Formats: sequence, C-alpha cells, structure tokens
Amino acid sequence: MSPDTLLQPSSAVTELPPGSVTPFDPATDFDPYVMATYGRYPIALERGEGCRVWDTAGREYLDFVAGIATCTLGHAHPVMVETVTRQIQTLHHVSNLYYVPAQGALAKWLIEHSCGDRAFFCNSGAEANEGAIKLARKYAHTVLNIENPVILTAHASFHGRTLATITATGQPKYQKGFSPLVPGFYYVPYNDIKALEQAIEELDSGDRQVAAILLEALQGEGGVRPGDRAYFQRIRQICDEKGILLICDEVQVGMGRSGHLWGYENLGIEPDIFTSAKGLGGGIPIGAMLCKSHCDIFQPGEHASTFGGNPFACAVALSVCQTIERDQLLTNVQERGEQLRAGLRAIVEKHPDAIAEVRGWGLINGLELKADSPLTSADVVKAAIAQGLLLVPAGPKVVRFVPPLIVSAAEIEQALKAVEMAF
Ligand SMILES: *Cc1c(COP(=O)(O)O)cnc(C)c1O
Repeated sequence: MSPDTLLQPSSAVTELPPGSVTPFDPATDFDPYVMATYGRYPIALERGEGCRVWDTAGREYLDFVAGIATCTLGHAHPVMVETVTRQIQTLHHVSNLYYVPAQGALAKWLIEHSCGDRAFFCNSGAEANEGAIKLARKYAHTVLNIENPVILTAHASFHGRTLATITATGQPKYQKGFSPLVPGFYYVPYNDIKALEQAIEELDSGDRQVAAILLEALQGEGGVRPGDRAYFQRIRQICDEKGILLICDEVQVGMGRSGHLWGYENLGIEPDIFTSAKGLGGGIPIGAMLCKSHCDIFQPGEHASTFGGNPFACAVALSVCQTIERDQLLTNVQERGEQLRAGLRAIVEKHPDAIAEVRGWGLINGLELKADSPLTSADVVKAAIAQGLLLVPAGPKVVRFVPPLIVSAAEIEQALKAVEMAF
C-alpha cells in the first residue's frame, strides 16, 4: 500500500461496496459466545464513512450515536486513517517505563486548550474517573488532613462501571447486585444548591468530611440535563472557601461536543480536576485525567496503567484534537446544534402529547418524552432505526442525539425527517 492509497478511506478501509450483504446470524454467530451484558438492537454494523454506517444486510444508516458520543470525526476520517496507519507502522506500545513523545505532545495540546496543568492517561472514562477519585482522596489525606473523606456526586449522574465509579454514579440501577460498594460517596440532587450546601454542613459536622464534588457539566447518560450556571458558580465559590476540589466528569460532554472544547466552559467555571475519554480518541480507546498544579501530587508508583498513554492512542487523539482546531469544528457543532434543536422543537409542536421538551448544548441533545405518554425512548429509537437513523436512549424517557462533530446541515435535515417519520 502506498501512502497515497492510505489517505483514501473508502478504498483503503472498505472492501465491500454499499449495499452488499455479509452472512451474519446472531443466534449462531454471536449469542453462544458473547456474554449477554447488553440489550442489543437487531442490526450488525460492519462499515462506516463520515456520518453513515452500513449493516451486514447492506442497509445504510445515518449515525447519530457515533459510538455513544465517541466518533468525533465520524467513521474512516482520512486524518484518522493516516495517523492510525502511520503509528502502527512506527510504534504502537512500549509502556510507561520510557518516555513516549506522543504522550507529551497530547498532554501539551490538552493543557494549552484547557484549565488543566498536568495530564495522566488511561484507556476509558471509568478509569479516568478512578484516577480522579484516587487523586481527590490523596489530596484529602495529605493536603486537607481529612481522615474520612467523602466525595459528593449527583443523582442521575453517570461515571462508569468499575466498583468505585458505579458507587459514584447516583443511579441505584447500576449498583444493584454488586454490594459491598466502595465507601466515601454521598449523593445530592443535581442543580439544587440548597441541597448541596445542606449535605456539606451535615457531613462536615459528623465524622466524615467533604473532600471533593464530582459532577458532569451536563448529565449525559442520566437524561441530557445541562448544568445550571449559577449552581456551578456557587459550587466553585464553596470549593474555594473550603479548599475542597471540584471535579468535572467531561467524559461525554467534553472534546468539543458542547460547542466549547470543554463542558465547564458553558458554565463559566474551572474545575480543579477533569476527566476525558469518549470523544478524545475519536473512537480509539483513550482516557485522560487533568488537574491544576496544586493537586498534581501523585508520586512515582502511586498510579499507573499498562496501556495508558501509549504512542498509538496518543498520536490518534492528538490528530483528533488538531482536526477539531484546524477544521473549526466547534463552529460547526454550535451551528448544527442550533439547527437540530430548532428542527426538533418544530417536531415537538406537532406531537405535544408525546414529547415534553428538547434540550442540550452543541451536538449533545435530548428529546424528552412526556411522563404520561406510553412511549419509551427505546420505542422511539426502534422506530428511528426503521427510518435509517441511529439514536440512543439516555434513560427510559429521553432520546439522545450525539452525531459526529463533522455532521453536515444536509445530514441534520435528513435526521429530522427520519425523526418526524418515526413519530
Ligand atoms: C461513558 C461515560 C463514562 C464511562 O466511560 P467508559 O469509557 O465507558 O468507562 C463516565 N462518565 C461519563 C459522563 C460518561 O458518559
């Protein structure tokens, strides 16, 4: 393969022309072998290009899931194809026993484009949040002299599937059956400053003390709920007064999805620690935890990840970051987001019995169904699939729209038509 052919995603990546059929039957080719941890929709995807994917039956879909807010540049983007190919041919993994220049370059880019001063790299959102939890606990013990630290998190939050992160997640359905959970967490209702102040007062007068507050700037999984500006600004004030840490989980809303590079920018605050993953590698697994210099307190040996920060993932993530900047994708995110919300609001007006509201930032938007409507988000997702549009639920009553950040005006229009047909 010459480097020229490598730059052509449709010829280099794809052997099957659109509309071709590959034999695949879940009953014989999948279910006997793979744990049934997911409720899957009955389609098998095998190829993608831009904002489109094709299934094994040759059907084309507009992809407004993007690997769950992950495929920042869509599928088979020429920059990713080039970087992945170059890096696998050069060096893909060596461990953190040695310096990895690509890791330094990615950290430099992220720090120059955020409020963070130092970065740690891992492989997923849950792992990034685990790092943030460990860092906050160490900060509590060594800087704040708190013996029994508590991290406040919000109801309806989502922070991952490891034991510590399902505990941090304020949704009992993710914790059920997995006790004993990890101690040191306490839950408050989101966007409710009175409840938060009360929780801090109560905890601090007992034998545990609040060391950190961990929140999403916009709750993704829990129903696409944007954070309230005044709420977050007051939290920042409280954290400054008490010297405790504000941690933002930017795993879903970060990396440009909100129309700003980081979700916290929508709220006019800066966290002490924030985490990133989903969109960071454009679909290649990578996670990151960034912190301000005052909490850069891990010593060698205190935290690690074998795969974390490998040359492959870091080079790809850097190419995604540079493409967001070079192609001015944040402007596209803002404009396409406005277009999508305006179009969805017009659909709400036609179905006032079924749909309650549309909300979101940039290209993370939710359409909430009326509580008294018999429709569920899964019903709408299934109807949309039948119209050739992929969507993902965010809870039982909210349908989430998280297309690639490169989505075009024509693709937004096509998606809106499919949503209208689905209803
Ligand atoms: C998806 C998500 C996570 C977990 O990320 P994984 O890569 O699945 O571990 C954590 N926090 C938020 C806000 C998420 O949306």
